[in-house]
Amino acid sequence: MCNGTVVYKTFDADGFGYYIIMKDNETGMGFLYGHLKEESPLNVGDSVTIGQYVGHEGTSGSSTGIHLHLEMQDISSHDWVFGADLSQYENPADFMGIPNTQGISAIYNGTPQPPEPEQKNKNSTKWLKFRSRKIILRL
Ligand SMILES: [Zn+2]
Repeated sequence: MCNGTVVYKTFDADGFGYYIIMKDNETGMGFLYGHLKEESPLNVGDSVTIGQYVGHEGTSGSSTGIHLHLEMQDISSHDWVFGADLSQYENPADFMGIPNTQGISAIYNGTPQPPEPEQKNKNSTKWLKFRSRKIILRL
């Protein structure tokens, strides 16, 4: 998600399992990858570049299936806030310019996209369900 630095890495059996947080060197945006299959080979302080191997998607910690748990927070002026109010998170799907929809695969090329107007402020679970139904209907 960024050209940056690893700022946090740990294991939390009751939460994100094996996870890692990276911070964009330019913007200070933070990205958390949770439920990794195993410990990332990267360590705090390591540099990361877009396209670099960070870890395997998994289901470690409190998780019922393999997925990449991706969170995004502006940490330019403070450390990552765990359990923050939803308003403190950015939407990675908007950032990447992909629909926030269940059941799709997306390859992100590292170029942030402006969100489509219809994606703005529609990140609630309700909308996710609506969107997934819409996709099913199209199929
Ligand atoms: Zn998750």
